[in-house]
Amino acid sequence: MKVINTIAALKSLLEPLKLTQQKIALVPTMGALHKGHVSLIKIAQLQADVVVCSIFVNPTQFTDPKDLEKYPRPLEHDMKMLEDAGCNVVFMPSVTEMYPAPEEWHIDLGPAEFLLEGEFRRGHYQGVTQIVKKLFDAVNPDVAFFGQKDFQQVLMIKNMVAHFEMPIQIVSCPIIREDDGLAMSSRNIHLTEADRKNALVLSQALLFVKNNFSSLSVPQLLEEAKKLINETPGVELDYFTIANGETLLPEVDKSHHDIVALVAAKVGQTRLIDNMILR
Ligand code: AMP
Repeated sequence: MKVINTIAALKSLLEPLKLTQQKIALVPTMGALHKGHVSLIKIAQLQADVVVCSIFVNPTQFTDPKDLEKYPRPLEHDMKMLEDAGCNVVFMPSVTEMYPAPEEWHIDLGPAEFLLEGEFRRGHYQGVTQIVKKLFDAVNPDVAFFGQKDFQQVLMIKNMVAHFEMPIQIVSCPIIREDDGLAMSSRNIHLTEADRKNALVLSQALLFVKNNFSSLSVPQLLEEAKKLINETPGVELDYFTIANGETLLPEVDKSHHDIVALVAAKVGQTRLIDNMILR
């Protein structure tokens, strides 16, 4: 496994491989790796010749400076996870490597940018697309893998790729969960024992909606799911929605072919998100 810190070194490693028609995959991450990240690497390996995993805690996508500061950075653990997963190249640039000079970034990501996470984390998807564009330019991948865990993020990246007409395939990969249903996340490390128990209500509420999707109306499903969450101590709901999976607008009559339930809540001091595809 090669560990690379600069864009120049990455390009000189990857460009000759591209010339020999090797298919290059990128798995962007912010580190603090868990089985969810590893699953992306495993799926990437099935579809590409060379798998590049980037680890970069991108400052421009954090709306809360404290969240950025306390973001976990367990480097040795991450290296071992990637080595064990059979990752070929780790790209781990510094902040100045990715942002050598102050820069403006604003692109049109469509109206869904301002819904859900976009409403609670203003400017988040501008920061996400800014860094992913830089990573795409540095790696020049044929295909890039993202988790459905960040459902809205996948939509925003697809919109960014369309905006710049980049010839990169974007693949959304299933959510990996703990045995009890909690979606794996680098932020779970911040949960206290009590938080960890309370956090289960998020996947339980989503599962309730999934299991009762055909028998209950959308308002009934929402009412029950929100009740479950609001009755759980230490959990403060930001949103629970049943939405059109393409526009993220609320789905009222189950008419669309692509419907997803999405939730975000603060559990103790930690903000968690999760979702389940209903159709
Ligand atoms: P992050 O390091 O949190 O930015 O995540 C890097 C990538 O891993 C993103 O595409 C996430 O959607 C994905 N990811 C995070 N958690 C999971 C999970 N539990 N299952 C599958 N993919 C995940």
